[in-house]
Amino acid sequence: MAEKPTLTSTSGAPSPTNRTSQTAGGRGPVLMQDHHLLEKLAHQNRERIPERVVHAKGWGLQGTFTVTHDITRYTCANLFSQIGKTTEVLSRWSTVAGERGAADAERDVRGFALKFYTDDGNWDMVGNNTPVFFVRDAFKFPDFIRTQKRHPKTNMRSPEAMFDFWASQPESIHQVTILMSDRGIPRSPAHMNGYGSHTFSMWNAAGERHWVKFHFHTRQGHEWLSDAKAAEIIGQTRESYQEELWNMVTEGRFPKWTMFIQVMTEEQALKTPFNPFDLTKVWPHADYPLIEVGELEMHTIPENYFQMVENAAYNVNNVVPGIGFSPDKMLQARIFSYADAHRYRLGTHYEALPANAPRNGRVNHYHKDGAMRFFTNDFGNPDAYYEPNQYDGPVADESVQEPPMRIDPEAVAARFDQVEDDIDYIQPRALYADVLNDEERDRLHRNMAGGMAPCTDGVKERWLAVLKKVHPEYEAGVRRALETGEHGDPSLPVTDDTPIRAAE
Ligand code: NDP
Repeated sequence: MAEKPTLTSTSGAPSPTNRTSQTAGGRGPVLMQDHHLLEKLAHQNRERIPERVVHAKGWGLQGTFTVTHDITRYTCANLFSQIGKTTEVLSRWSTVAGERGAADAERDVRGFALKFYTDDGNWDMVGNNTPVFFVRDAFKFPDFIRTQKRHPKTNMRSPEAMFDFWASQPESIHQVTILMSDRGIPRSPAHMNGYGSHTFSMWNAAGERHWVKFHFHTRQGHEWLSDAKAAEIIGQTRESYQEELWNMVTEGRFPKWTMFIQVMTEEQALKTPFNPFDLTKVWPHADYPLIEVGELEMHTIPENYFQMVENAAYNVNNVVPGIGFSPDKMLQARIFSYADAHRYRLGTHYEALPANAPRNGRVNHYHKDGAMRFFTNDFGNPDAYYEPNQYDGPVADESVQEPPMRIDPEAVAARFDQVEDDIDYIQPRALYADVLNDEERDRLHRNMAGGMAPCTDGVKERWLAVLKKVHPEYEAGVRRALETGEHGDPSLPVTDDTPIRAAE
């Protein structure tokens, strides 16, 4: 048998014991000088870091992205430079509202975040399992999240707050419809799509910019849980996603997704009937067809969850040359919020942690000291600690400057929330009337009724009025389910017709 390593303190000194404290005499009090004990207790107090304000509960895998189709006419991004090129990826999927110990199978939007460790640094695709979002302006985001979290007095989640807010923000109806549809409780992260949601941009070697949306389609098929089935699962295990991912990977059934982009020219963007930079809108497939890009396969369970998944810091501002932003207001705000949140949660040098450190062997910046400055990036010359300098320190590369972004000054000056009457209802109407079938609509009615059942009549009526603007049958169906009580109440008995079901 291999010899066991010697236990040491964090400073490397061998530890005489890990079980008994030094005391004054056999029955006396503990001595202050027992620094091994003090270190152990002090470390325990520091084993937790602030949990994420949103997306606290998460599951992650490591894997590989492989290019299968050529999109170099749209982007010069190195990771897409040739068919067959592979890039290491770290994924993290999450629920939005629940705390770190929340049950996995709750009805909620899921985060879908991918960190591509490219040769040009990290590209973080920080999306969700829905193509749209609840609000389109970051001013509304902290209020929205407050409605999803616990009430300050009851310390419980508040459906009244959620539906009161949504009823005051009809732009939310698109996302709420998806949330209350079958896709609102995916069976596991492997059984859902991922979307970049925002409009991003790509530019090619000729400096031409196109607006793009990112789509990752599950190869496992969409599978979802009814409210009743989810309640049954939560009663048995709170970790159903972690368990399912663990089983899939350890059994060699590696989850896969196909990556697509949608592309819109700058000229097209000037003429769309909807604002293409509005996060509550999709781009219709018929007008902007999906263009296949590659395959994502997640095949490895990280050795240490905390180190690789809890410490993973996804930033929408982590883009690489060839990928850029758009005038999407929510995207612009996230460019501030994500890095700020990570500096608070993980510390100044969070990008140097193993989960976040680029794998391209090239981190040359002049941000030096501060807490946890445990890395070296002195470029081999201590004199090169400012810029410009005469000591061959790193210099900027103007060739990676992105082309100018075409924006509409009128749109920037206009109040974004003053939109034409029907524009927020057209797309949810298409989803409700054209995409969902009768059974799916029926379940949507019941799930929605279940969610809003605890609300006061005033909030219910305001929300029903929003549903009516989407489609009269939407309002009528939810009202009927509210009146009959046939809704997605998790307390309903589990029957044979509420199994885990694959979508048709
Ligand atoms: P399509 O008929 O081409 O697209 C409909 C899409 O709806 C499907 O491709 C699928 O997206 C998605 N879908 C199916 N079931 C559900 C569900 N329960 N919840 C959410 N999405 C579902 O028409 P359009 O592109 O014109 O879009 C019509 C409506 O479909 C939109 O208004 C929007 O509400 C919804 N949708 C559109 C998407 C898009 O990017 N165009 C993406 C997702 C939803 P997927 O292929 O991504 O699985």
